[in-house]
Amino acid sequence: MVERQLRRRGVQDERVLDAMSLVPRELFLPSDLRAKAYDDAALPIGHGQTISQPYMVARICEELGPVAGRRVLDVGAGSGYQAAVLAELDAEVYTIERLPELAEQARRNLAAAGYADRVDVHVGDGTRGLPEHAPFAAIAVAAAAPELPPSLYDQLEENGRLVVPVGTRSEQRLEVVVRSPEGPAVVRSVPCRFVPLVGEEGF
Ligand code: SAH
Repeated sequence: MVERQLRRRGVQDERVLDAMSLVPRELFLPSDLRAKAYDDAALPIGHGQTISQPYMVARICEELGPVAGRRVLDVGAGSGYQAAVLAELDAEVYTIERLPELAEQARRNLAAAGYADRVDVHVGDGTRGLPEHAPFAAIAVAAAAPELPPSLYDQLEENGRLVVPVGTRSEQRLEVVVRSPEGPAVVRSVPCRFVPLVGEEGF
């Protein structure tokens, strides 16, 4: 997976590649899908949601910049896989999921993989962020928003980075936004496809 799906497509950050090789993705999947754990695909995790494609997870981590020892918010916990990769990168991880059943599943998966003490799982509308734990050095959003959610931008540190798919329900661009004194600066934008972000500042 690391060689064929990540390195070959341009993921270069060795810390990210190491973290991706260390987190057992099969522990974040329903048992009948475990044989497909290292496929080059997003896979169903129940409740109409998916675990993101490994490449997207790696790409998001790389775009967040160095996160070791820094506070990071992961919006859309889903299976907990992205949060586990961030924990493996030594970030202080907060993750939020709107569906309570999936938040519980993320907690169980993170515990089984040994990351329970490094990730704080919350239930709620992640479009509003987690003001009680802000500011964040980086925020990763694993679901598509119609526009940049203002609350998430507000909860970034100065020079903090927000990675969020922005577009319609069916196609988006993964935007990398940096907080600056002049306002949001979009430093990169690549085509992508995610499930919708459902909430006050989402769809
Ligand atoms: N990072 C996850 C990806 C899950 S898919 C993983 O690695 O498995 C995106 C998730 O975002 C879904 O679980 C969905 O329920 C959740 N989601 C959608 N809108 C949300 C919102 N407003 N707040 C929090 N989570 C949300």
